[in-house]
Amino acid sequence: MSAAAKIRLFAEMALVPGTEAVLPGAASHYLCTVMRQGAGSNLAVFNGRDGEYDCTLVTPHKKNAVIRVNRQTRPFEAVPDLWLLFAPLKKDCTDFVLQKAVELGAAKIIPVLTANTASGTVRLDRYQAQAVEAAEQCRRVDLPGVAAPCRLDELLSGWEPSRRLFLMDETGKGAPAATAFQAEAGHPAAVLVGPEGGFSAGEIDRLYALPFVRGISLGPRILRAETAAVAALSVWQSVAGDWITREKN
Ligand code: SAH
Repeated sequence: MSAAAKIRLFAEMALVPGTEAVLPGAASHYLCTVMRQGAGSNLAVFNGRDGEYDCTLVTPHKKNAVIRVNRQTRPFEAVPDLWLLFAPLKKDCTDFVLQKAVELGAAKIIPVLTANTASGTVRLDRYQAQAVEAAEQCRRVDLPGVAAPCRLDELLSGWEPSRRLFLMDETGKGAPAATAFQAEAGHPAAVLVGPEGGFSAGEIDRLYALPFVRGISLGPRILRAETAAVAALSVWQSVAGDWITREKN
């Protein structure tokens, strides 16, 4: 029988080999209450900035567990500079988009409120918790940022123009995704996916008038927003991101 996979946790704390430290409440709860780990159990901890560390649980506690930091097992590594901007969807679909965006290496995720965004409260704390869970599972050593929801017009007026904004345009007017992403490889990027109801005509016009916006087509079929998000991130990673050959350290 194979040994259970080593538990991997994000914890906002300093990780210094040879020291003991108290895990934050949520991580202590998960490790000791949910996963029922006892003294001596081995785990991997990352703090989003210093890489990953092999650690040992010294004193189990549901709120203040003490761990010993043994050694660094992986250095910090940032993901490519790609953001996902998406209009919040129904709960399950939003959960899916968040999880997949983290797995597909989005550096930052921004919920964007557009004209046709289904109303409903955006639970930022929940979004962030899901991003942490996905990062733990897919072995990222950075922590993907989930920003507070922002109105599309506000986001556009504060946009840093060196970051290309790829508009996923279901009207078919855009350039093929791979060609456009490849042409702009090397620039910081963001992909923008509309809500279930699509962008309004006014939004499309405003977006196309901006110098940093590039219209993108993901083919002749209308995709659901969550499919479009996964497809856009995957194509970008394959032609401009870290799915292509890169130097190993
Ligand atoms: N309600 C719209 C569809 C919206 S699909 C309609 O019926 O026409 C949700 C979002 O997914 C769109 O706003 C767009 O950003 C993206 N999308 C879906 N299909 C796409 C395609 N073929 N190319 C580019 N983007 C697409």
